[in-house]
Amino acid sequence: MAAAMSVSAVVPPAAAVARARTLLCVPATARAPREMAAEVAAAAALGADLAELRLDRLAGFAPRRDLPALLAKPRTLPALVTYRPKWEGGEYEGEDEPRFEALQLAMELGAEYVDIELKVADKFIKFMSGKKPETCKLIVSSHNYENTPSAEELGKLLAQIQATGADIVKIATTATEIVDVSRMFQILVHCQVPIIGLVMNDRGFISRVLCPKFGGYLTFGSLEKGKESAPAQPTVADLINVYNIRQIGPDTKVFGIIGKPVGHSKSPILHNEAFRSVGLNAVYVPFLVDDLAKFLHTYSSPDFAGFSCTIPHKEDAVRCCDEVDPIARDIGAVNTIIRKPNGNLVGYNTDYVGAISAIEDGIRATQSTRSTTSPLAGRLFVVIGAGGAGKALAYGAKEKGARVVIANRTFARAQELGNLIGGPALTLAELENYHPEEGMILANTTAIGMHPNTNDTPLSKQALKSYAVVFDAVYTPKETRLLREAAECGATVVSGLEMFIRQAEGQFEHFMGMPAVDGKFRALATSLDNPSTMKGNGRAAAKPRL
Ligand code: NAP
Repeated sequence: MAAAMSVSAVVPPAAAVARARTLLCVPATARAPREMAAEVAAAAALGADLAELRLDRLAGFAPRRDLPALLAKPRTLPALVTYRPKWEGGEYEGEDEPRFEALQLAMELGAEYVDIELKVADKFIKFMSGKKPETCKLIVSSHNYENTPSAEELGKLLAQIQATGADIVKIATTATEIVDVSRMFQILVHCQVPIIGLVMNDRGFISRVLCPKFGGYLTFGSLEKGKESAPAQPTVADLINVYNIRQIGPDTKVFGIIGKPVGHSKSPILHNEAFRSVGLNAVYVPFLVDDLAKFLHTYSSPDFAGFSCTIPHKEDAVRCCDEVDPIARDIGAVNTIIRKPNGNLVGYNTDYVGAISAIEDGIRATQSTRSTTSPLAGRLFVVIGAGGAGKALAYGAKEKGARVVIANRTFARAQELGNLIGGPALTLAELENYHPEEGMILANTTAIGMHPNTNDTPLSKQALKSYAVVFDAVYTPKETRLLREAAECGATVVSGLEMFIRQAEGQFEHFMGMPAVDGKFRALATSLDNPSTMKGNGRAAAKPRL
């Protein structure tokens, strides 16, 4: 059965409750034994529970010379010894026998875990002929670098590994879409022996963070970016500090941002910290989603409690929700989805309040007199873009009494949105010479200028001279080229970071049914934007908790 199975049916919390805490393992992948030992020490300092010694990575590895030093006691961390052959994704190219001898020596020297591949597990166990020390656990592993098999096939694989007499089962597969991970969660929940179940690559990322919820024996976190032993492996610091992995358990509610791409989003850092600050048993993860309807159908358990929506799913989200807030329906874009107790998905839009209030406050800050009417009333408001954010800005500006004009790369979409809100449409070329009056407001709602393309800008500096106020929805970087040049032209500028903070506060309120702690999101977002106040992911590394 190739179809993804709904996670709604696979999360009996009691099944996972009995499991021990999921361990955090850092792969040590250095080329020299001394450096590998230093990596283990660094992993311990970061709070890992064990280190995987990847013997196949060592250049000129001599087991009798190098292993006694690597496994000398006292050690900072328990050791998982892996000597992965090339045919299973590792670097060892020799015969099995010398490899088996090295693994046997590691056991004799007190390695707490040894990993052997399923294909040769029986052969290895025969080779050991009952001499495995009691204290050493044998992990029998299977790696699939192409896809994630069907639930039935995964079940058969599990039974096959169990039949070898493995102490711990390890199954690593590859996600071609995020729904593949649900099958691995099912296997984790139903497995009767300790199991490591991970799904590799960006679309499988959630398997690495959420495995404690489903009872996974361990998850891997790299020492630092660039030292991953598998695609899309998070750093151990991110697992501990951003995702609060130590707190994740069967009852943890899951929230996250659905997008494609989604890796750039700062939302996980913000929302996880906000959850932590009010002591909520919840985690917020990035969901790299290709097909929104399929994703929502698959992860339909009440435990998947709420979602942020970003590019390119905001409009599709309107169709995928069971109920849509009237304003979000009018806008035609949903950026927040919550699951009601009856299972219904309800869509909201917090972008428009976030963006419009940010622009209003930006203008008011330059005015000496206070007025109750919106500073947008009567102004000519030009929106570049006709996607989810463009619709929210256009709708919000119109609500405030502005005269809205839409400019978009795809002119037909500009016309469509223009018709919806009763405003004219322009091509991007026409916008270059558009100057019907003074004091216009400009809002960029395209991704132009977003990191890494920070030298791009949606409008020339010459054309910017016609605007009194310029807003950019892009918030990475905070000061885009558009805003820098607009400021140089004398315009009041409003950063997308302001919108980001305010829409996130709105989302938190929907997710939790309570207001965000005053100033919390602002302080966090500001620290994210200012690398000098950050360490790692904006938080100092956690103390080891062994
Ligand atoms: P979307 O629904 O996919 O819409 C993207 C819009 O940008 C479309 O109008 C598209 O034009 C246009 N566009 C994309 N690439 C372009 C290019 N190279 N040249 C010209 N136009 C281009 O995305 P969205 O959700 O509205 O998000 C748009 C941007 O706003 C993103 O950068 C997002 O990060 C940002 N945003 C920021 C916040 C915040 O809190 N600050 C919140 C929401 C969104 P076509 O119609 O021709 O495809």
